[in-house]
Amino acid sequence: MSLFITLRFLDVLDILLVAFLLYQLYLLIKGTVAFNIFVGLFLIYLFWLVVRALNMELLGNFMGQFIGVGILALIVVFQPEIRRFLILIGSNPQVNRFLRVEKLFHSDKTKSASGQHLRMMVRACENMAKTKTGALIIIAQNSELKEYIRTGEKINARISDALLETIFFKNTPLHDGAVIINGNKISAARCILPLTSKVNINPLFGLRHRAAIGVTENSDAFAIIVSEENGNISIAEGGELTPNITVIELSSRLENIIIETEDAE
Ligand code: ATP
Ligand code: MG
Repeated sequence: MSLFITLRFLDVLDILLVAFLLYQLYLLIKGTVAFNIFVGLFLIYLFWLVVRALNMELLGNFMGQFIGVGILALIVVFQPEIRRFLILIGSNPQVNRFLRVEKLFHSDKTKSASGQHLRMMVRACENMAKTKTGALIIIAQNSELKEYIRTGEKINARISDALLETIFFKNTPLHDGAVIINGNKISAARCILPLTSKVNINPLFGLRHRAAIGVTENSDAFAIIVSEENGNISIAEGGELTPNITVIELSSRLENIIIETEDAE
C-alpha cells in the first residue's frame, strides 16, 4: 500500500519521460547498424557477467577495463545517433518558435523560396525527369548547411529552372554531387553529403538516394532526387525517403515547407 502513497505526480512524469526518450531512441536506431551494435554490446555485457560469476579473474579484469569506461564508449560508438537526436530536438519548429533562435541566426536571410522560385524548381525537376538527368537538390531550412556548402562550388545565384538544368546537365563540371538551396538562392553545387548508414534501404537506390537520406538525417533539410536510371522523382525528409512521387505531389510538398517556415517566423 505504501508504494501507492509515495508515488508522486513527478514520479509518474519521470517514468513517462524516460519511456518517451527510450521510444525516440528506438525510432532513431531502428533499421541502422546502431541497433546491431547495441545488441553486440549487450551480449558482451552478458558474457562479462558470466565470466565474473565463474570467477575467471584475468578475463574478468581484462573485460572490466572496457566495461568500466562504458558510458564514454557508448558516446563514441553512438556519436552519429546522439548527434541526430540533438538535431531533432534543436531544429523542432515549435522549440525554435518558443526560443526565437531563428531570428538570432537568420536575421539577414530571406527564409524560404517564393512561389515563383518554387515553380521554377518544380519545372526543372519535371524536365530533368523527362530527360533522365540525375539531380540532387537540397533545400535548407533552419540549418543553412554551411558545412556541406563548403565541400562544393559556391554559386550564390537566384533560383531558375534553366540554371538548375544547366548545373545537372550530364558531363558538365558541376553536375556531380548536390545543389544546396537557401531561401531564393542556389548557394552551391557539387556538394558532398553524408551517406546514410541505414541497412534496410532498397538496393535499387544508390549513392544519390543514400546521400539524400543522409543529409536529412543530419539536418532539418528537405531533399529532392531525380533518378538518372528511370527518371523518377523522390523526396527525403527527416531521414525518410518517399520514392517516385508525381510533379503535383512534389509541388504541394514544397508549398507545405514554405507555409511551415513562414508559420515558424
Ligand atoms: P540514380 O537513380 O540516379 O542512378 P542512385 O541512387 O542509383 O541514383 P548512383 O547511381 O549511385 O545513385 O548515383 C551516383 C551519383 O550520386 C553520383 O554521380 C553523384 O552525383 C551523386 N552522389 C553520390 N554520392 C554522393 C554524395 N555523398 N553526396 C552528393 N552526391 C552524391
Ligand atoms: Mg544508380
